[in-house]
Amino acid sequence: MENKSRRTADILALIGILACGICLCILVYRLQAKKEFLMQRIDASQKLNAETETEIENIKSDTAKLQEDIRIYADMEKTAAETRENYYKVCKQLEDAVIAHEADCKIAYLTFDDGPYLNTTGKYLDVLDQYGVLATFFQIGRPSEELDPLYRRVYETGHTVANHTYTHQIRNGIYRSVDAFISDVKRNREFIEDKLGYTTDILRFPGGSSSARNLKPAIIEELRKLGYGYVDWNSATGDGVQMMTPAEYRDNVLNKTGNRDILVVLMHDYSANTLTALPEIIEGLKNQGYIFLPLFYESSMINK
Ligand SMILES: [Zn+2]
Repeated sequence: MENKSRRTADILALIGILACGICLCILVYRLQAKKEFLMQRIDASQKLNAETETEIENIKSDTAKLQEDIRIYADMEKTAAETRENYYKVCKQLEDAVIAHEADCKIAYLTFDDGPYLNTTGKYLDVLDQYGVLATFFQIGRPSEELDPLYRRVYETGHTVANHTYTHQIRNGIYRSVDAFISDVKRNREFIEDKLGYTTDILRFPGGSSSARNLKPAIIEELRKLGYGYVDWNSATGDGVQMMTPAEYRDNVLNKTGNRDILVVLMHDYSANTLTALPEIIEGLKNQGYIFLPLFYESSMINK
């Protein structure tokens, strides 16, 4: 029993360290903006019709310095990406230990679908920050400059960004054909890549994978070719189905965990009532022995 606790504590400590490392991303992405600015300056410098030799020398030394800065920032981006990979490796170790009943905790993957939303997603992120919880956001394509900072904040704070198709159009849309579904998935992947420079590898079918009906096997085959795994859920507040009170949403999660080793909890970051319930959901799951991780491709919960 003591060994179990020590092993879990060791893995948790490592997870904590690596999660902090991911926050390097924040820095990197701020630096990214600076990098773009610097690139523009280099361009401008090179185009300048300098009148004196001194000016030309200054421009040269400026250019050299700025290029050195760009190299440093490129290294940091690499470090942040590597930290994220290492983090997922340790999460996988913990998940394996939980499944083998060698750890004295269970895992809850909190997932939020359909965002980002201007009025609510930031508040969800505040609550998750407050509890130091990393989660997974299944995002759709919302082309609006106002939402760009939210797309970035989700990613930069270490949450997993996942694909939930671009249009999310369940009726007469994505489930018309395999091609219709896959092109919507690709469209969203490119949309997110453009915003974050990050390629998603986890997907959730709008309405769950059963919504694909007889197309499901062919869609899964195509997803595999694109390097995607998919995940449904085994726990939910019910906010996507019916309007209920925060207390009911909370109880739908806390009273129905079935003491499962691993929970994938479905929620929607548009729901004001789930937002109200979230602190109690987090605290209640903690009391039941759950710790919180963001989903990653290698997780056993991801169907490949
Ligand atoms: Zn959805």
